[in-house]
Amino acid sequence: MTFKAEYIWIDGTEPTAKLRSKTRILADGAELPLWGFDGSSTNQAKGHSSDCVLKPVYSCPDPIRGGEGDVLVLCEVLNTDLTPHESNTRAELAEVAERFAAQEPVFGIEQEYTFFEGDRPLGFPVGGFPAPQGGYYCGVGVDEIHGRDVVEAHLENCLRAGLGISGINAEVMPGQWEFQVGPLPALTVADQLWIARWLLYRTAEDFGVAATLDPKPVKGDWNGAGAHTNFSTKAMREGPEGYAAIITACESLGEGSKPLDHVKNYGAGIDDRLTGLHETAPWNEYSYGVSDRGASVRIPWQVEKDGKGYIEDRRPNANVDPYVVTRLMVDTCCAALEK
Ligand code: ADP
Ligand code: MN
Ligand code: MN
Ligand code: MN
Ligand code: MN
Repeated sequence: MTFKAEYIWIDGTEPTAKLRSKTRILADGAELPLWGFDGSSTNQAKGHSSDCVLKPVYSCPDPIRGGEGDVLVLCEVLNTDLTPHESNTRAELAEVAERFAAQEPVFGIEQEYTFFEGDRPLGFPVGGFPAPQGGYYCGVGVDEIHGRDVVEAHLENCLRAGLGISGINAEVMPGQWEFQVGPLPALTVADQLWIARWLLYRTAEDFGVAATLDPKPVKGDWNGAGAHTNFSTKAMREGPEGYAAIITACESLGEGSKPLDHVKNYGAGIDDRLTGLHETAPWNEYSYGVSDRGASVRIPWQVEKDGKGYIEDRRPNANVDPYVVTRLMVDTCCAALEK
């Protein structure tokens, strides 16, 4: 007998990479082998030397096919000499995560996204706009909610895949939603977020709608889509020095060139979203504060009260590469906390 393995990888599309996948039939009991693909069709190679290698790094049950043994297989892209391909941001995170493993960093990422039907966000009337923002966030009822059937199916698929999805909610703009993955270690949260994104596109396909991570899908007075990245280390989570560690982490993100180093790697189009309006801080001004949804980094009120917990970097765009944002945060905050 056989099973179906859906090999999933991140391509080389600029400025925002896309997910690709293809299916391999394997004999029951077979290990997941290295595989290959045509890199000239994914912006990962030139035509005259187009082979790229797929190396399985994370696999889970496939809730779409659902057959016994069917799996989703997230892969790193390698060159034919088995070194990491230049589009492979996971390999670099693996090194940094390893270096700071003793601090036990964990992340919870809030993935916002928007459904589209044709060229309109789901719930936007033909040739016009819906009522202004106000009633949609965590709303209920047909006047406010668009796409809940897709969202519920996606949630169920993530759970059946065994992902650490921790919640969902309707967002501020009609057709806009969020799911959260974590808290989990950096590599795991990022691997699972990529799988959850693939499942989002794949689930929405069956409903005839598209999901997009476009950080500013509608110009004007409509919220953008972000990927708030919640972060803690063991020292931040545990008292009595927890709050001092939290302040050290917040300060480290504001030092020298760090604000710009981070923001320019937090997803294409970040200056369109981080305008200072719509619950964002301006992209070129770093700030942190308790309960402050207009700051770059927020310390939740409960965390201040408990004197320990985590911080929320509110800057990453919905289209951020989770391997990159987690690497930057570990690199900056854990280096400062080590001192
Ligand atoms: P918000 O109020 O910003 O909308 P959410 O509930 O959407 O918050 O998301 C908060 C995220 O923070 C969740 O993904 C949760 O798993 C994560 N989280 C909770 N505790 C920690 C922690 N100690 N370290 C890192 N992430 C955490
Ligand atoms: Mn072919
Ligand atoms: Mn949230
Ligand atoms: Mn949100
Ligand atoms: Mn948030």
